[in-house]
Amino acid sequence: MTLDDRWFTESSEQLGLAFSLKLKGRNKLFDVQSPFQRVEVYQTEGFGNLMVIDGCTMVSTRDNFLYHEMMAHPALFTHPDPKRVVIIGGGDCGTLREVLRHDSVEQAWQIDIDEQVTRAAEQFFPELCASNHDPRARLLFADGIQWIADAEASSIDLIIVDSTDPVGPAEGLFSVPFYRNCHRILRPGGIVIQQSESPLVHLHLLQDIHRIMREAGFDSTQTLLFPQCIYPSGWWSATMAGKQATLNTFREQDALHKRFDTEYYNRDIHQAALAYPEFLRRALAAR
Ligand code: SAM
Repeated sequence: MTLDDRWFTESSEQLGLAFSLKLKGRNKLFDVQSPFQRVEVYQTEGFGNLMVIDGCTMVSTRDNFLYHEMMAHPALFTHPDPKRVVIIGGGDCGTLREVLRHDSVEQAWQIDIDEQVTRAAEQFFPELCASNHDPRARLLFADGIQWIADAEASSIDLIIVDSTDPVGPAEGLFSVPFYRNCHRILRPGGIVIQQSESPLVHLHLLQDIHRIMREAGFDSTQTLLFPQCIYPSGWWSATMAGKQATLNTFREQDALHKRFDTEYYNRDIHQAALAYPEFLRRALAAR
């Protein structure tokens, strides 16, 4: 079976898998080589617009809610009173929109290294940028590694690392020195949550993330599992690390009676996302 140019395909020789979306029309909507990465946007038949960075699927109109809600709400409802939130990466602005649905949040910084991602999102994913002008939002274009290194100690309640895969500019976001600085700038009770790839096809990386977070001084780690159709295997994860924080309980009543609508996240989904299948339980116990 050959896939001609009517399809966008992301393939991995290493994983022996590929994922394709049928394109609508022949013209690409956006194609910029920034100093950091290549940012493209396609129009697809079944998933709306599709953003691709260095050949990897990032965001689709149809299914981004799964990822953005799960990168934001579990950690926010796990923290007792999140006021100051930092998003590293997240240039499509979808995570920022979810964070700002929480009334407790007083300030939300979004630090993405590549302005072109946000410019593409403003044009082709305007719904994700709906909160960019919220007075609590600060959008900066800088290296998140340096921003965290320069930030004041004990000044932040929640750090969300919504980054690309651990290669290129994002590689350092999966390192002990980075997590050490996260630990330093978090207040007691603070949490960092990092997109932690697929539990099925990136298990070794998930094990490493737990190990690195603990090596950096975090006393607890907890992975959340959720579907994400356009990412390799369609099964994704985010991993929290806590600084004197309990991660497997959360403000259930606040989640149950949340004052904003979601498409995926709710109290029961949060509870279910905390459960480890046997292979993952064993793999994380063994690390
Ligand atoms: N949902 C996607 C995923 O899980 O792969 C991530 C979406 S978001 C577009 C990823 C962002 O990380 C990109 O916009 C990229 O520019 C940003 N990024 C990569 N390395 C970074 C760094 N060192 N500092 C700040 N942002 C970075």
